[in-house]
Amino acid sequence: MVKTTAELALMRVSGRLLAAVFEMLDRTTLAGMSTLQVNDLVERFITGGLGARPASKGQYGFDFVLNASINHVVCHGVPSAAEIIRDGDIVNLDITLEKGGFIADSSKTYLVGEASPQARRLVRVAEEAMWQGIGQVRPGARLGDIGFAIERHARRHGYAVVRQYCGHGIGRDMHEEPQVLNFGKPGTGLRLREGMVFTIEPMLNQGSRQVATEPDGWTVVTTDRKLSAQFEHTVAVTQTGVEVLTLRQGERAA
Ligand code: MN
Repeated sequence: MVKTTAELALMRVSGRLLAAVFEMLDRTTLAGMSTLQVNDLVERFITGGLGARPASKGQYGFDFVLNASINHVVCHGVPSAAEIIRDGDIVNLDITLEKGGFIADSSKTYLVGEASPQARRLVRVAEEAMWQGIGQVRPGARLGDIGFAIERHARRHGYAVVRQYCGHGIGRDMHEEPQVLNFGKPGTGLRLREGMVFTIEPMLNQGSRQVATEPDGWTVVTTDRKLSAQFEHTVAVTQTGVEVLTLRQGERAA
């Protein structure tokens, strides 16, 4: 669970490359693209430009390099040629990448064109909630501190936190110990140590926190069909605090 200095250096490389994928997407007009076109664009960028490997392809029987989750889709949306991203949508793109044997994992919810004020607010608060969680990370802090900070921020703004999915340790494997819940009690849970690397990835719902999996076995939706938004970074516990390994250029704590 604790990475060596050499392992951390490799994870830093993976994180930086994954940040570059999102920096490329930030410059891309998503409206009018199918989610499969976005998938293919990202696959070419990772394997060609970056010389890395998309970590999700082939894992758990998944054939794609990202999950694209639009509007009421909470997570795990499957890229499709038939699914067109439209002006006003919010779309979460969740991407993993492996380089040098180590995996980075990040996601961002994009506002497409003229999203409604309600959608913009949800997306903003979801990003803030992730940063509230990241802000708790330092040696000696507890996992419960992270979850508590995330849920407190969501609730303060009238949103619910999805409980079925959580952050996770990451390294040579996409999913390692520990589980990083998006709710919790301060002062409880695993004590953080320098060198731990994990993701923080809260999902916030406009309505109820209840979710369901569609018959395809992948796509997770809100049961009330209201909007859901998510942000995710891979972070390392440093000697004094936190390093966000997947931080994008120009990005800072919301
Ligand atoms: Mn993840």
